[in-house]
Amino acid sequence: MSIMAKKKACVFCGNTNLSNEHIFAQWLLKELGILEKDVTMTHAGFAGIPFSNRKHPFSKLVNGLVCEKCNNGWMSQLEEECKHHIINLMNLKEFKEELKFLEEHHEKVAKWAFKNVILLNSATNYRQLVPAEHYISLYEGNIPAGVFIDLAFCKKDITIEWRQTPGGLVIKNKSLPIRLAASRYTITFQIKNLLMKVVFYDSEVNTLYESKGVLRLYPQFGVNGESDIIYNDIDQFDLHGAMHEYI
Ligand SMILES: [Zn+2]
Repeated sequence: MSIMAKKKACVFCGNTNLSNEHIFAQWLLKELGILEKDVTMTHAGFAGIPFSNRKHPFSKLVNGLVCEKCNNGWMSQLEEECKHHIINLMNLKEFKEELKFLEEHHEKVAKWAFKNVILLNSATNYRQLVPAEHYISLYEGNIPAGVFIDLAFCKKDITIEWRQTPGGLVIKNKSLPIRLAASRYTITFQIKNLLMKVVFYDSEVNTLYESKGVLRLYPQFGVNGESDIIYNDIDQFDLHGAMHEYI
């Protein structure tokens, strides 16, 4: 007896005409010099300690879940709009000009980071942390409520690295119930010297992700705190910060 496989559909729009593209754009793979190289995929555990480490042919890391129309349409447009600025940021070039650009276009760059992390989660064999609504929300042009996106820099210039976890500490009012099943995730990635982090906690009340020493891209642009926005490595940045839940 055979079981009919459910036809795979685009995570964004539901279209079944899927593309065969990498989760990261071609220009980014080229810039990183890894178009054809193997990349070690690290799955970080709850405390950020890697519990599995294996090599994947990175050029074969295709998402398989994005349609041609999305890939060649809004996604390609988003890549085109961010490309030049991301290349500058990851190479620590023209910082003053890029800071000005971010101040004006922080939501666009936040969407670019958000698109990358949700596709990363859909394509890797780590457990599914990102709710289906988040893909639909981005397709409709919005970053979902409860999502915070930060940017910082790393002292070390590495090719690419990422971390996916259900997230760390949640600080809450005593009157609020503990919700162990709350949907949540923290996904951080590094490309050369650039660090980007997307944090989500699904609260029925209010949330604030507190993180000093970062450039917040979303929801409100700003430099948080007086401290430096330069980190030793991706783990230091990934584990930095705490989610607050309040009434
Ligand atoms: Zn689509």
